[in-house]
Formats: sequence, C-alpha cells, structure tokens
Amino acid sequence: MSLLVVGSMALDSVKTPFGEADDILGGSATYFSTSSSYFTDVRLVAVVGEDFPQKHIDFLKLRKIDIQGLERTEGKTFRWKGEYGYDLNEAHTLDTQLNVLETFQPKIPEGYKSTPIVFLANIDPDLQRDVLAQVESPQLVAADTMNFWIEGKRDSLLETLKLVDILHINEAEARQLTEEPSLVKAARKIFSYGPKTVVIKRGEYGVLLFTHDNVFSAPAYPLEEVFDPTGAGDTFAGGFMGYLANTMDFSEAAMRRATVMGSVMASFNVEDFSLKRIRDLDYKEIENRYREFKRLSHFEDI
Ligand code: AMP
Repeated sequence: MSLLVVGSMALDSVKTPFGEADDILGGSATYFSTSSSYFTDVRLVAVVGEDFPQKHIDFLKLRKIDIQGLERTEGKTFRWKGEYGYDLNEAHTLDTQLNVLETFQPKIPEGYKSTPIVFLANIDPDLQRDVLAQVESPQLVAADTMNFWIEGKRDSLLETLKLVDILHINEAEARQLTEEPSLVKAARKIFSYGPKTVVIKRGEYGVLLFTHDNVFSAPAYPLEEVFDPTGAGDTFAGGFMGYLANTMDFSEAAMRRATVMGSVMASFNVEDFSLKRIRDLDYKEIENRYREFKRLSHFEDI
C-alpha cells in the first residue's frame, strides 16, 4: 500500500571527526522516502528552492518516488549545518535556515488524498497538521520531531501529537519533550499526549518500542566504523513505516519486525556521508542484514 510523507528536503553541511562536506543532499523527507522506497510506493510532499540541483530530483525519480507533491519555488532551499564529536549519537546544530520552508503551504495532490498511511517527518508541526487536514482519514498516522520544534513550537507540536498514532523520537528529545529523565515514564507521558505507540531511538544503543502494555528493545548493528549519523532517524523511520505499508499488518509482532527493519536501514545509512550508502542497495543486502540482527539478539530460554 502507498505511504505519504511530508518533511524537509535540504542542502546540509556536515562535519564529523572523519570528514566534512558542504551542500550535500539531506532533509527528513529525503532520507525517509529513499529508505521506504525499498518496501512500498512513496508519495512525497516537500518544497525546494531554485538552487536545488536537478540531479537530486532525478535520483528520487529513479527510486520511483512519486514527486507530484514536490514543489520548487522562488528562494533558497532549507539548509541545515551540523557537527558531531566522537560521540556520534548527538548532533550539534550550528545553523538552521528555513528559507522556502518558512512560507511553505503544502498542497496535497488529489491522487494522494486517500493514502492509507501518512508519515509526518521532522518539519514545522503547523505544516504537519496542514497535511493531515487535507487527507481523508488515513488508517495510520506517524510522526517525528526534534529539539528545534520542541523548543520553538511546543504548543503546536502538542496539537499535532493529538492526531498521531505512532511517535518516532530520539531519547534526548523524548526527555526534553516530557521533562522526564526515565524513558519509561517519558513514553507513558507521550501516550497521554495522543500516540498509542512510541518509538524511542537511542543511536548506537538501539531502539525501544513502547506499546501500551509492552516494551520491545532492538539493538543497533555493531558497525566497526560509523561515518556520518545524519539522517539515521529518518532512515530508520523509512524502514519501519515502509515495512508496515508493505504488509499492512499493524500488530505488535509486525511493529517489532518493523523496528528491526528500521534499524537495518539506519545501519546502512551511517556507513557513508549523506544518502550515498542507501541510494542503491540490493534487497538481498537488506534481507541478509535483517537475519544478522536476528542472530545478534537471539538467545535461548534458561
Ligand atoms: P536525523 O539525523 O535523522 O535526525 O535528521 C537529519 C536531517 O534532518 C538533516 O538532513 C537535516 O536537513 C534535517 N533537519 C535538521 N533540522 C531540521 C528542522 N528543524 N526541520 C526539518 N528538518 C531538519
């Protein structure tokens, strides 16, 4: 089944202890749609400026992502500049220039309106709600967010969360949003905001999936070298939501498999700068790494 995503498309400047690159392809919707395109049909709603290289749009087309909902308008593309120290789990934002995102008014193409699954990737929570107001009762709505919006648009974000079934959030941001140091308590507090499922991403320590009665813990893949963690969260969400859209099974067992699939995709993404490693994966590589995850965390009963 199809999956609709709204989020940012960006030109990023990223510095890690292993190298740096300027004006490289980034953005929450870019990572998400690329990752989910391995599993399902993806419909993209986003905006870029006049300066956005055509080759990046051609790449999305090559991945068979539906770009009818991608607008190119006057002005500059959204830009994010970030830096990582040796603790690659934490991105330090040096600069955020909203540019064309500031005046963006998403218009959902007629053919997108009945999409059964909607992902509100990291973007202004007002825009996340604008999109929901234009779609016809989707079966599943999931969202992501970050400190920039928690700090700058908290009330709007809480309004959006009332309409969301699954929240994807990283651990520092879960603590910041709820003012709870315990992730178990933080997840419970997030349930009270609206979502029935909370996925807390913990970088190299893996992911916790909270449903009302249960918690599932998936490891991260122990890579020898992590090159650039940018986009790991969005790539995770793409694998998770893409897998759910592919199976249309939203049971807890399916969400556990989706959590591992998300972790598989994120583990590829961090192996290189920008989207280099997830541009052209072979599905066999994805399956093989999924099985490695199974072996990695399997143990017998006592
Ligand atoms: P992640 O590492 O998965 O959290 O996401 C990194 C991507 O988020 C980068 O490619 C940025 O372009 C994008 N990004 C950073 N800040 C924002 C923001 N305030 N709103 C939307 N997207 C953002």
